[in-house]
This record gives sequence, structure tokens and C-alpha cells, in this order.
Amino acid sequence: MVKKISAIRGMNDVYGDAADAFDYLVSVAEATFKQYGYRSIRLPVVEKTELFCRSIGEVTDIVEKEMYTFSDRNDESLTLRPEGTAGCVRAVVQAGLAYNQIQKLFYTGPMFRYERPQKGRYRQFHQIGVEVFGLATPDVDAELIVLTARLWEKLGLKNLELQINSLGSQAARKAYRDTLVSYLNVHKAQLDEDSLRRLETNPLRILDTKNPAMKEIVEGAPKLIEHLDAESVVHFEQLKSHLDDLGIAYEVNPNLVRGLDYYNRSVFEWITTELGAQGTVCAGGRYDGLVEQIGGKDTPAVGFAMGIERLTALLMDHNLVPRLAQPDVYVVLVGNDVQRPGLVISERIREALPHVNVQMNCGGGSFKSQFKKADRSGALYAVVLGEQEVVERVVSIKPLRETSEQETVTWDALIDKLKEIFPC
Ligand code: ATP
Ligand code: MG
Repeated sequence: MVKKISAIRGMNDVYGDAADAFDYLVSVAEATFKQYGYRSIRLPVVEKTELFCRSIGEVTDIVEKEMYTFSDRNDESLTLRPEGTAGCVRAVVQAGLAYNQIQKLFYTGPMFRYERPQKGRYRQFHQIGVEVFGLATPDVDAELIVLTARLWEKLGLKNLELQINSLGSQAARKAYRDTLVSYLNVHKAQLDEDSLRRLETNPLRILDTKNPAMKEIVEGAPKLIEHLDAESVVHFEQLKSHLDDLGIAYEVNPNLVRGLDYYNRSVFEWITTELGAQGTVCAGGRYDGLVEQIGGKDTPAVGFAMGIERLTALLMDHNLVPRLAQPDVYVVLVGNDVQRPGLVISERIREALPHVNVQMNCGGGSFKSQFKKADRSGALYAVVLGEQEVVERVVSIKPLRETSEQETVTWDALIDKLKEIFPC
């Protein structure tokens, strides 16, 4: 036998129930975004490496060690996108979409990071992202949060906790950085290797450490939120009032700093305790400086991204995926000369009842084997056509999930009967 070729570690095929859950999540999310007036944007998966270095930041986990970077045949350094915001900003700048106009955009697709694969953490994963350009006021920060809350409500997801924080202005962060570095220098002996390095390059990221041994130091550190500029304080207070008005519960987490450098002012995360260490399902914030950093005109912006794999895991754990992809009706065809009327009848049902999924048995087989397939398909009813039925121009309708009797109806009466069973 020829040796099999397997997929790349951390890059998974998604099929069966997981694929149904994936599609369902994306469709509900996109419908929700449209309900709020957001429009779709489709972006390349590959960008120039420089784009990510300039936006995400040279001294972040992503750029330091997680990017899939390669040279193309023309020796240009390219990178598989590790996140969606940088490419979206690049597109908006390139097409001049933020000139004297507001953009409210969403996208979905694969992202790539060379991380250690584990539950909820993969090398190819998928995000649904939303970005807004041209609005500096906290009402839009609140809109993004209420929009995600609306999505959780539509999906039936409970127990997601919202954490918020403010990172203030660039200038306030710079001043705070010195205060933080002085504090960390006093406790240098307790810093881990990563943090020692970050102390020189990006000390704020130390607050985001996942190392439990560093917990005490981080908790004792001076809080950025107590060193904000006056305007950011007002912005944050307004955001909180909006959330209060909307009845959205939140916790202010002063150590929420996010793993990308471009954020300022509001940042937020939705977190579940049900997925172990990989508990953040949605994360975002304001990035007012990024458009200019990518070569555009100074434009305020705010956005978030959610992790599809983590959300679908939650949906599946709680049985929240409706049976959209399964057939409702399985057409059983047994005997000679049943395929021709069978195909026509199946198509007639699909035409008259577009909301009913119809799977027709192809390839023949005995009653027993076809009913086994019908059962496995998840269908609620079998429509049965055998040689005798063809002679009499009738079909039998057999419930597969309840014990009620099967019924025989004429071909002419079939559609009306199915309309009774499956009202719109
Ligand atoms: P984490 O702290 O879990 O590494 P992050 O801060 O790196 O997350 P973001 O870049 O903000 O994550 O991405 C937004 C969301 O995308 C995350 O909250 C998570 O749900 C999802 N996500 C990020 N990295 C991965 C990954 N490697 N595999 C699966 N989902 C991921
Ligand atoms: Mg990460």
C-alpha cells in the first residue's frame, strides 16, 4: 500500500457535527452583524510580512515566534495571516475606505499561528472578526459589546463573562511604563525568563503572563487604569454607563492588556470557565493609532475577533446546534423501476417544500439496509416507494423517531401531507 499523507500538526479537518456547528455559528454571527448594519469584507490569507511586524508589534508572541513566514519565488517575505485586523486595515487604507466615511465591517476565515497545539489552540484556526473605522466615541465600543452579547443570546450560550479594561492613550501608557518597570526591577529576582526579556522590550506584556508563578507579582503591580489620561477616563466611564444602560454585566480587569501592541483605550474579552486554560472566546478593543501606522490618515478604529473552534466546542458541549444540515425526509426506494419515479418525487418535494431537507437513497439496497441508512441519517420521516407502491401510485410515510403508524398516501396527496408534517 502507498504511504498515507497526513495533515499538518495543529491543522485540522472539520467534518460531521463539528462542521455543522462551524457553519451554524458563522451563519448566525453574520446574520447578527447584518442586523446591526455591518457589511462583509473578504481579505487575502497571505500578506507581506512587514504588515504584521508593523501592526502587531515586533516584540509580541505572534511576531516573535508564531508566524508562518516564507519567501515566495520572487524572494519577497510573505506571511500567512495570524489575525485579521492588520489585513483589514491595510485593505481599508489601500482602497481609501475610511476617507470621510464610516466603515462597519466583518470577516471570517482561517488564521495561522505556530503555537503548541492543544484543546482550543491550533496552528490553523478560524476567526470571525468585526472592525469599525471612523468613530472615536464609546457608543461604538458599547455597540460591539452588545452585538456580541446579542450573538450569545441567539446561540443560547450562557455563562460567558465580560472583562473590560482601558489602556489609555499612548502618552499615558509611556508614563505608566516607567512606573511599572521601576516596580518590576525591585522584584527582578522573581521574574521568569520571558518576563526578564520583556522588561527591556515590552514590559506591559508581562501583565498578560500565563505563568501562575508570576501571579503574585502581577497582582501587586501598579495598575495602568490608575494612570490613565483624563480623556481616556471619561471614555471608559461612558463605556461603562452604556453597558449599565444595556444591562450587560462586566468586570473591570486591570491586568487585561491583550497580546497585540496596537490597542489603546477600551479592551475587552469574553471568557468562559468551561474550556480550561483556553477560555477566551472573543477579544477586542480600540486601536486608534493603527490606521496611521499602516500609512493611512489618522482614523479611530475599534474591533474584535472571536475564536470559532472554541465557540463551536461550547455549542456542541451544550447541544446547542440545531439539526439544520441533517435530512428531514429520507426517500427509501426498493425494487426494479422505482428509481425513475423516486427521483421525480424527491425533486417534487424539494420544489414544493424548500425548508425540508430531502435525502434520496441512491445505489439501491434492501429495505433493511435502506432503513438503517435512513435511521443513521437523522431523518425524521422515511418516504417509502416499492414496486407495489409504484403500481398503485402511492407512497408510505413512516415516522422514524416516534412510534406512530405509517400512512399511505397517493402521489398527488403527498405534498399536502408533508406540508402538514412540516409547516413552514
Ligand atoms: P490567547 O490568549 O488564548 O492566546 P490571543 O490573545 O492570542 O488568545 P487573539 O489574537 O486576541 O487571541 O484572538 C482572538 C480569539 O481567537 C481568541 O480569543 C481565541 O478565541 C481565538 N484564538 C487565538 N489563537 C488561537 C489558536 N491558536 N487556536 C484557536 N483559537 C485561537
Ligand atoms: Mg495567543
